[in-house]
Amino acid sequence: MIALTKNAALRVALIYFIFSLLWILLSDRLLEAISTSAETLSALQTIKGGLFVAVTSAGLYGLLRISYRQLAESEERHRMAQRLSGIGLWEWNIATNKVYRSDEMLAIWGDKPDEFNGIFNVEARVHPDDRIRWRENVRACVENGKEYNIEFRVVRPDGEVRWIAALGNIEHGKNGKAHRMMGVALDITARKQAEIALRESEERLQIFIEHAPAALAMFDRQMRYLAVSRRWMNDYGLKDSVIGQSHYAVFPEVPDDWKAVYQRGMAGEVVQVDQDRFERPDGTVQWLHWVVRPWHTDDGAIGGIVLFTEDISGVKHSQEQLHHLAHHDTLTDLPNRLLFNERLEQAIKRTERHATHLAIFFLDLDHFKHINDSLGHPVGDWLLKSIAKRLLSSLRKEDTVARVGGDEFILLLEDVREPEKAAVAAQKLMGSLTEPFHLEERQIAISTSVGIALYPQDGTDPTTLLRNADAAMYRAKEEGRNTYRFYTEELTRNAFERVSLENDLRQAIAKGELLLLYQPQVDLRNNRFIGVEALVRWQHPKLGMVSPIKFIPMAEECGLIHPIGDWVLLTACLQGKTWLEQGIEIRQIAVNLAGTQIQRGGLADTLETVLAKTGFPAARLELEVTEGFIMRQAESGICELESIRRLGAALAIDDFGTGYSSLSYLKRLPIQKIKIDQSFVRDLPGDPNDAAIANAVIALGKSLNLSVIAEGVETQEQADFLKKAGCQEAQGYLYSKPIDAEKIEALFSAQGG
Ligand code: C2E
Ligand code: MG
Ligand code: MG
Repeated sequence: MIALTKNAALRVALIYFIFSLLWILLSDRLLEAISTSAETLSALQTIKGGLFVAVTSAGLYGLLRISYRQLAESEERHRMAQRLSGIGLWEWNIATNKVYRSDEMLAIWGDKPDEFNGIFNVEARVHPDDRIRWRENVRACVENGKEYNIEFRVVRPDGEVRWIAALGNIEHGKNGKAHRMMGVALDITARKQAEIALRESEERLQIFIEHAPAALAMFDRQMRYLAVSRRWMNDYGLKDSVIGQSHYAVFPEVPDDWKAVYQRGMAGEVVQVDQDRFERPDGTVQWLHWVVRPWHTDDGAIGGIVLFTEDISGVKHSQEQLHHLAHHDTLTDLPNRLLFNERLEQAIKRTERHATHLAIFFLDLDHFKHINDSLGHPVGDWLLKSIAKRLLSSLRKEDTVARVGGDEFILLLEDVREPEKAAVAAQKLMGSLTEPFHLEERQIAISTSVGIALYPQDGTDPTTLLRNADAAMYRAKEEGRNTYRFYTEELTRNAFERVSLENDLRQAIAKGELLLLYQPQVDLRNNRFIGVEALVRWQHPKLGMVSPIKFIPMAEECGLIHPIGDWVLLTACLQGKTWLEQGIEIRQIAVNLAGTQIQRGGLADTLETVLAKTGFPAARLELEVTEGFIMRQAESGICELESIRRLGAALAIDDFGTGYSSLSYLKRLPIQKIKIDQSFVRDLPGDPNDAAIANAVIALGKSLNLSVIAEGVETQEQADFLKKAGCQEAQGYLYSKPIDAEKIEALFSAQGG
């Protein structure tokens, strides 16, 4: 229906108004009045009739013109709307099977107007893949009057495929029969392509994320999960979705330094962390490589961060394996020369700082070739592996043993205080290999030749040290094998001496070569002898009298101090008891204790046994412990001293002034006496420093209620000075050198009761 505009209606109303006016003016009565004759009237009535026809037809014509123009305008507007919107119109007259398609519609389908004659097979032009869907929609519309709204592809005559969105409906006639179907369509190919491209790109991204070797998670600014990859879930043992949850709620133990990295990401930085140790909830350890990068919102602000983590444990493991292979001997798994050199270099640096020695051993098996040739290589390999194990077990943890050739091993011993220690270690190693190796029923005996070079005296770099140890090993071979040699001959000699001395000392007690001398102690107030210090000596069959300074430290190292110490204690107490029985009034006998005797524990028990056995009163026994040892002791050492004290024996600190005692510590010790070391006495009274120290020690003794004895008193001046300073007792050559028991008897008897 065409609707007239307001303007057109006004014009039609005006024509009718004029027409009505004329009609009224030319009414029949008026005509009759103005007609002069019947002819005139008839003529006037004809004119009136003509006028009526003319006016009416003019009105009708106007009306039609207006309608036509408006129709054209309206159609033009429709066309324009269609062109602009791209929407095509169609209409299908079911009765006539004629189809109308607008120009836009033709354009969408790729048809030209002249090609189209109104008969159009739509279905044939629907893309085969969409045909079934299209048909169902159309059928539903035709049969049930359901509006259809579908998107499908059409194939243009030139083969081009376009996507269209179509909306259609059916119109029913008065009889209820469907008589017309019409609809609109829009070419949506561009949108569809964009959608497909987006979907494909999302799919690709998803595949990429899921299969990437890294785990991915996206967070907002509050570190809440926005997205996570499956790998993330798997890698971190997550079962339920974490989307929306805070990362810190999911992993409450995120370390602070990781949080700091997240913050850097939030601030816009891309941060890579190369290797990071991560302990998984199940306790297994992982190595991670991870990257943090910010992501941006549409307006360019930072919306949060994306975390990529990659488990590089496998890489790390193979790196370690490679590193191990490159640094170890494949047969024995011992370090190879490369690793040995690295460790040697580090050890040299450490040793420079601590002023000790390093010992490098070059160890070569004697006649190994013979074993290989006679028993075969598999046995040779087995033997080498067994030797490696024995070497390892006879070394300290911090030492290194490496295999550098067929039957050659090199060893690095750190923190070797004296060269002799190296000799002892070499003997121990050689000893560990002399025990035969058992292979099934066979016993294989092997010996070794060892060359020793010391840092720093025999070289200051790995190459020189190894070369010299090698040279020393050749000397050991030349000199009969199954032995060791130092690079420096003198050291070899010293070491041999020491080792043989140690062997001799082992038998010294049994052979009765040890003896005790006694040095009297004097009361400075009246110069009377009041006690003695027992000092051990070793009467060596070849070397003569050996000083305790030489053999006591050696005895401490090899453990012989225990039988020696026990012997000294027993002998001193026996002697004391004899003196008492002889009526010789000896107030105290001082016996020296080595640190290791206290450290081992059980000293109080030994003491108790000795006292019981000899009947010597505990109150007359004084035990001397050096200040250096006391200061190194932990609580356990103090406990041991306390139980000695409980037995009734007195405790004295020997060599006082050399061990940096702390006052508070001294106060807690169960001691009765301090013994000023002879080094502070030697230069008295001339040396102001020594005088000050002696004075201070005496004052300290007084304030702690300890008695003070000075040792090494050789002159009267020294004695006078000490007496004046308040020192009660003295010991030294001024009064007597250490002498045997008989002479002591004479001295004490001479002074009378
Ligand atoms: P010490 O306990 O400090 O003994 C004092 C040392 O100084 C003794 O040396 C003694 O002979 C010496 N001496 C005494 N008066 C003088 C003097 O006026 N001038 C000089 N120059 N020296 C003097 P000795 O007997 O050679 O003992 C040395 C160290 O050996 C002792 O030092 C003690 O630490 C240790 N020692 C001795 N006998 C034993 C023992 O039976 N057991 C233990 N564990 N160590 C002992
Ligand atoms: Mg002493
Ligand atoms: Mg001393």
